[in-house]
Amino acid sequence: MLSWKLESTYLALPELFYSFVNTDTVPAPEWAVFNTDLAQSLGLGDNPDADDLAILAGNKAPSGSRMYAQSYAGHQFGHFTKLGDGRAAVLGEVLDRQGQRHDLQLKGSGPTPYARSGDGKAVLGPMLREYLIGEYMHAVGLPSSRALSVVLTGETIRRDGFKPGAVLCRAAASHLRVGTFQYVAVFGGPEPLAALADYAIERHYPQLREETNPYLAFLDAVGESQTDLVARWMCLGFVHGVMNTDNVAISGQAIDFGPCAFLDAYRSDQVFSSIDQAGRYAWGNQAAIAGWNQARLAEALLPLLDKNPDTALALARESVERFNDSISNKLTTGFGRKLGWHRQRPGDETLIQQLLHWMEDSQADYSTSFVALSRAVAQLDPGYPLPPDSWLEAWRQRLREESASADPADPAALMAASNPPLHPRNRPVQAALDAAELGDWQPFQRLAGSLADPWNPSSALPELEPSDVAGQPVFRTYCGT
Ligand code: AMP
Ligand code: MG
Repeated sequence: MLSWKLESTYLALPELFYSFVNTDTVPAPEWAVFNTDLAQSLGLGDNPDADDLAILAGNKAPSGSRMYAQSYAGHQFGHFTKLGDGRAAVLGEVLDRQGQRHDLQLKGSGPTPYARSGDGKAVLGPMLREYLIGEYMHAVGLPSSRALSVVLTGETIRRDGFKPGAVLCRAAASHLRVGTFQYVAVFGGPEPLAALADYAIERHYPQLREETNPYLAFLDAVGESQTDLVARWMCLGFVHGVMNTDNVAISGQAIDFGPCAFLDAYRSDQVFSSIDQAGRYAWGNQAAIAGWNQARLAEALLPLLDKNPDTALALARESVERFNDSISNKLTTGFGRKLGWHRQRPGDETLIQQLLHWMEDSQADYSTSFVALSRAVAQLDPGYPLPPDSWLEAWRQRLREESASADPADPAALMAASNPPLHPRNRPVQAALDAAELGDWQPFQRLAGSLADPWNPSSALPELEPSDVAGQPVFRTYCGT
């Protein structure tokens, strides 16, 4: 039996921020996955029983819990919409072993007052993808929500045919989004806006309480964590796929993994999601989009930044400019680390761009190209084609400058720590989800086991090695989540 000690600090906010909900009762709950490692770190214990299965299926509320859905809005592909959790219910908050607070939220637990025309349900494949991606992000050290469980419901749900229904339970530092601020700015007013900002500061950035302008400091702090996050996921070759403002968490965690995917052959304009036809959320656009999303947060916070609207606007603009400078700086630093140095120098940007152009022209596999360079530095067989000699010579020259500097990096160690040899390749992930849907869990278990140890090349499965990426059709992800 798990130990549910749930709190609900969020419910101290004004009522416009949530609606109490009842989850659907489902016919035949059955475990698909239970994340023992996460359950232990959340202090829930590791021994779920039938009551816990009922709770995680939405069939039973944990004692004392009043489940609620959160209201928010957001720009979806650039268009402002009133949203809210259409198919999610927060069970409550837990404090983990380090004293950090997490929301536990069921996803796919039935329609809420915010469901619009949606059925409130989720299906197995996309919930397993969310599970795998969150675990991988956690394993490589990227701040991310993580799934505690996926439970089969025994229902059959219409999605591009009929699919097995499932409910996911995820732990997130919170579900406060840029879209939560947009919602209250448009539909609430200055008082509930201030209440939300104070709550977010208290929960995520308590050190800012004493700042002379805590709301401006908050905007900057969210910017700091978002620039870290997006620069790091771009360096990993990750394409989130739906960087709408309702999918941007104030905490700085990655959340809402829908039609996301990792670069195979490198292309700056690579898109995987079938619904992103204009390429808004392409790999190489993500830094600019993160800046656009931050500008939406700044807009929502304007009334709090200064009493004088002109001053508020100037402060917001400066903050967004800092964001844009910071993310481009962090990308250059991130790529520098992938190439063996930890401090930027003039010329680095050119060297990085030349490498990426070579990858694009030769349709080289993104992550394997970096792993090959790490292996070359460590005097190992690269095992994959290297860039042309002219580039290699310039790169080695840059490494010599690094070793002559006052505080040189150890390129082999830095590159090994910046270029994980394993990642959830799109095709094997899809194959594992398809097999699980048919009741064959072995490919999913194998993948989950291997991806939990992404720095260890010996845990790689043959399907996680690059197949010949040149000439392969681009993998497509679909939004029928
Ligand atoms: P997402 O694209 O998953 O970030 O979801 C965008 C919005 O659509 C959120 O408000 C979700 O709660 C809502 N939504 C997504 N799928 C469903 C569904 N099947 N039923 C009800 N609401 C949904
Ligand atoms: Mg979402």
